[in-house]
This record gives sequence, C-alpha cells and structure tokens, in this order.
Amino acid sequence: MRIGVLGLQGAVREHVRSLERLGVDTLVVKRVEELPEISALVLPGGESTAISLIGGEPFLERLRDLAKGGFPFFGTCAGMILLASEIEGRSEAYVGAIDITVARNASGRQVHSFETLLEVEGIGGDVPAVFIRAPYITRLGQGVSALAKYNGHVVIARQGNVLVSSFHPELTDDLRIHEYFLNIVKKRNQEDMK
Ligand code: GLN
Repeated sequence: MRIGVLGLQGAVREHVRSLERLGVDTLVVKRVEELPEISALVLPGGESTAISLIGGEPFLERLRDLAKGGFPFFGTCAGMILLASEIEGRSEAYVGAIDITVARNASGRQVHSFETLLEVEGIGGDVPAVFIRAPYITRLGQGVSALAKYNGHVVIARQGNVLVSSFHPELTDDLRIHEYFLNIVKKRNQEDMK
C-alpha cells in the first residue's frame, strides 16, 4: 500500500514525514501518470489557487474521476478547499469529493494563525490543531460527519473515504489524524481484495 502526497505546492514534506513516521510507503505525486501507483492521496495545505493552476485541468479531471469511485482523499486546509463541492465566492469547485461548502481565509490573515487543542470524534482529546489562514466549513451535506468543532465551526469532517481538516495535523508531532486516515485506506484496500 502506497499513499501519495500531492507535491505541487505547500506543506508536502511535512505530510510525507508524518506518513513515514507511521511506517507508510509514500510517493510525492506531481504528474497525473503517477496516480495509478497510489491507493490514496493527501492534498496538503498551501494556496489552493496555486495548487489548482500548477496541477491544471487534466489533473483535476482525473481526481474527480477517482473521487466518483470512492478513492480515499485527505485534504488539509488548501487541500480541503480543493476537495470541497462548493467554495463561497467561487462559481465552481475543483475536485468536489466531499459535499461541503467552505469559506476561504475564514480564520483571518496569516498573522492571526493560531494553535489549539481539539476533541476529535473517533480519535480522542487534546489533538493539537494549527490554523493558518484557515478555511471553515459553512455547510455540511447529508452523509458528511463533523468530527470536531472550533468556535462553533466544523473544522474536521468525513464523508466515506474522504477526510478534510481546516487545520494542519502535519505541522505537529501528533500522528493520530494521519493514523485515522490510514485506517480508512486500509479498510478500503481490504474490501477491494474481497
Ligand atoms: N488560504 C489558503 C487558501 O485559500 C489556505 C491556507 C493554508 O493552506 N494554510 O488556499
């Protein structure tokens, strides 16, 4: 089992480090041709506009196809924006793998970045969460579960094999959220083998 980290822009190395610490084989994915080599994809934080432009339409199109087949995705911050089905102030989604609406930069400018501890459903308490110009989820579709809230806003959610967070678990030493995603991927791989 190999997990890809979308390596176009943003906190790519940090995700690779977290996954490697969990003993996972990883691949930094930069080209659409590399997608068949992985069984899940992590979309890092960074700048969603930049990531989408560098990736380009054929890349996004391929990710949309994978999403329809239940492929596991984990998007943090900008990665969550790329996976959302709706983005406030934008007419179109990028990948649209999870039925949520997001508001970009909802937690303020870069200087307003902050860290807190969260109680995350299915994971546990005191999960460190770093927010950097973070998007908030402003609407959850049916079938999407809220795993934690901060200040009344949902900041981590899951729908099927897709996990998204407003914050950056890859910037901390706590591996529980990556581990949670890993279990989603393992379960899906086992089901595929049945
Ligand atoms: N504000 C960024 C965006 O809109 C996301 C910030 C981040 O990933 N830390 O893409």
